Formats: sequence, structure tokens, C-alpha cells
Amino acid sequence: MMRSRSRSAALFAAAVKRMPGGVSSPVRAFQAVGGLPPFIDRAEGPYLYDVDGNRYIDLVLAYGPHILGHRHPAVIAAITAALERGTAFGATTADEVALAELIQSAFPSIEMVRFVCSGTEATMSAVRLARAATGRRLIVKFEGHYHGHADPFLVAAGSGLATANQPSSPGVPPGTAADTLVLPPGDYAALETVRREHGSELAAIIVEPVAANLGVIPPPAGWLAQLRALADATGAVLIFDEVVTGFRLAFGGAQERFGVRADLTCLGKVIGGGLPVGAYGGARDLMELVAPAGPVYQAGTLAGNPLAIQAGLATLRVLQETQPYAVLEQRLTRLLTGWQAAARAAGVPVTPTAVGSLGSLFFTAEPVTTVAAARATDRVQFARFHRALLDRGVFLAPSPFEAIFLSTAHEDAVIDQVLAIGEEALQELGR
Ligand SMILES: *Cc1c(COP(=O)(O)O)cnc(C)c1O
Repeated sequence: MMRSRSRSAALFAAAVKRMPGGVSSPVRAFQAVGGLPPFIDRAEGPYLYDVDGNRYIDLVLAYGPHILGHRHPAVIAAITAALERGTAFGATTADEVALAELIQSAFPSIEMVRFVCSGTEATMSAVRLARAATGRRLIVKFEGHYHGHADPFLVAAGSGLATANQPSSPGVPPGTAADTLVLPPGDYAALETVRREHGSELAAIIVEPVAANLGVIPPPAGWLAQLRALADATGAVLIFDEVVTGFRLAFGGAQERFGVRADLTCLGKVIGGGLPVGAYGGARDLMELVAPAGPVYQAGTLAGNPLAIQAGLATLRVLQETQPYAVLEQRLTRLLTGWQAAARAAGVPVTPTAVGSLGSLFFTAEPVTTVAAARATDRVQFARFHRALLDRGVFLAPSPFEAIFLSTAHEDAVIDQVLAIGEEALQELGR
């Protein structure tokens, strides 16, 4: 059983006095589930250890980067060796070129790449580049898809199709929101309307090829190809935000898995091996518009940081060598199928969803294929499940809209444990 969380409680009380919500990123405050966020002291393989000495099996993995688990020996060795040589030079290193080449070998659509420091920077810069390349203003994004926190993406759908869009956060200028058309994912008729009414004004279509910030919702069959067709018909730039899916669904990301090519691809998370990295890339003619090869300004003091590049390179080399994707997928399927059976036995309605090693357990009897369906799931049951897992030593993301992630460190014995703990938690929910 858990020890007390008294040290976490004291730290959280101090944190909320000096940091908004006590955190550096909102989801970490546990608002969706209530309760106290444990303060983490260290991590190893599939485990997190909090400041009170509790151990958790980690199903969050820093929201995606740690596909090899925490402190993978190859990654730690690479960072350690890099540390010996210095932490930032304001100059290009040999291994940036090596990482760019490795990314190109995995993603045939990425002939050239620019490294940045976060996924947000990657998507923001990709949209600027698309607008510059097309000389147009409007972008299409899909409801519920997350692309980081830059202004063009913090937009909520208005009442009419692609009209009257509103900023979804105070501080985003209405003019910026007006340039983002928000469509329901999977809606073919909406694509046709946009083509007809706004085709010639469209700079970019940006999409999460697998929605992973709404819980996990796979793309409807053929829909990504339809986006490719819309981009081709209108001359818009198709941007795949593969910040989560890149090197996670397959070595070549969603583009390999679904066989659809993007014009620009945004990467992050896995490519930094747990250090702050993002990247955007695409065909040479597009990327050579970026400064200093071209006129589109974009820069970064710590971009291509040598520690981050080494962590990313080590991670990708292990992935390339071991190709763990089928095993990761089997393990997640086994976990979710087991939980589903336990939920049925306990009389708790659930719907699991998964693509590769990304998954969700939604508390609903209905299939979850739309944004509305994801938002209509039972959040009270989710919060109870979250609490029951946490109390038994499993760290699930504290929101039904965050994915479950597995790593190669989650071996079968660990999965067995998570399964058993989840079964107990679901029995508790059914009572
Ligand atoms: C995490 C995420 C981002 C933002 O990346 P940050 O590094 O947090 O800025 C963008 N797009 C998707 C799909 C993400 O999951």
C-alpha cells in the first residue's frame, strides 16, 4: 500500500504560492481528477518514485518522449558523454547532421529539417512557412486536435461551419482566431465545403494523424488520404503534426503506418529522448524558404542543443535497431483487452481505443469516434479509476484526454502487474 504523501502535500502548498496552479504545465495540477499530484524525485525504467518514497508504474512517460522507458542506458550514456564536451555552443554540431539524416531515412517526405526546442515551436513555425510558401492566410485545424499553445491553434469552432471562430483562450487576438478554420475531424462534407468556399485562400491543413490529445481516436479509414487530396486540390500545405506519433506508431510515424505523405511534418517528444526538442521538415523547395537559406525568419538560441540532439539520436538508433513497435502494440492490446474484460465483469461500461502503443480507456458504453463522444464520457468514473490506480502504484495521466503510453521497459511482467491492479480498481468502481 501507499505511504503517506505528506512531502508532496507540503511541496504542492509551496508550489501554488510561487507558480500558477503549482505547475509548469496545466495537466500536472490534477484538476480533472482532483487529489494531490505526487512530486517526483526520480525515475527508472517503467517506474517513477515520488518524494515520499512511493513507487508508481508510469503510464505517462512524460506525455510521450520516453518510448524506451526512463534512463535507458544508451540514452544516459549519450547524454553523459555529451556533458563532458559542453552543453551549448551556438554553433552546429556533427550530430545535428546525423539526426537530420536519420529523420530523413525514417520519413521520406522530410528532405530537410529545422531543429527547434518544443513541439509548439515546430507547429508554429510550420504554419508560418506554409503561409509564406502559399502567400495565403487561412489554416484548417480539426476540433480537439492539439498542436501546442501558439495563438493560431487556440481557437474553438464557432456555430456555423468554419465561421465565427473564437479564441479558446483569453489573450489570443480575435483576428488570429479568424484565420483558423476549425472542422470536425472525420467530416468529409466539411472538407468539401472548405474546398468550395475557401480553397483559394487556404495556406495549410494541420492534423494530428491519430488524435492523441482527446484520448486516442484513430483516424477514420481513408480520411487522411482525403486531406492529402484537399491539399492537392487547393494548393494548401498538408502539415502532419507527428509530435506524438513520430517514431512512436512506427519508425516512420503515422506516414509509414497509414501510407499518406505530408508536405511538412512536425516532430517532438520521442526525437528528444526526454530532453527539450522539436523539429519541422519537408521537401527541399519548401524548407529552403527558411532563413538563412530563404526569407522566412525562424531562429533559436538553444535550438539543436547538443545534449538534446544526443539523447534523441541515441533513442532513434535504439528504435531503428530493435524495431519494438509490434511488441509495444501487442502489450498495449493485452492490457486494454484485459481491463475491458475486468470492467465487463464489474459492470463498469468502458470503451478502449488504441493505435500502436497509444491508447485510452474511455468510461462509456458507446464507441468513441468523435470529439463529442470523447467529451461525453464519464469523467467522474475516470477520476475514481485514476485515484484507485494511483493509490495502488500506477501513474495514469490525470485526464481522460491524455493518452496511455507504453515503453519498451514495460515488459510482460510489468504489464501483468498493471493488469491486476487495474482489475482491482475496476472492481472497486463497480461496487
Ligand atoms: C505535445 C504536443 C505538441 C506540443 O509539444 P510541446 O513540446 O509540448 O510544445 C504539439 N502537438 C502534439 C500532437 C502534441 O502531442
